[in-house]
Amino acid sequence: MLLSCPICEEWTIYSVCNDCRKIRHYMSIYSKDRVIEILDSILSRQEDKQENKIKLEICKEIENKEDALNAKSQLMSELKETIQTRSKTEKKKK
Ligand SMILES: [Zn+2]
Repeated sequence: MLLSCPICEEWTIYSVCNDCRKIRHYMSIYSKDRVIEILDSILSRQEDKQENKIKLEICKEIENKEDALNAKSQLMSELKETIQTRSKTEKKKK
């Protein structure tokens, strides 16, 4: 007798079709929550894209801050040099 699989609704001679039985098997090994979590993370590509976008934005932000820091330390060392040469020339004057 053919039955309709309660999960995928395909015809089967079992209470659950072979494919859905596999899913059920994974659920019994890894728990239902874990299986759903994995499916969500792999199948929801839109969210993945968003996540990549967020990661990219964070990287850009860090790069900008690093650039700003480098520019500041460059300026600081230039200032130090100027001060050092100035004090040297002042000492020579004395
Ligand atoms: Zn099925």
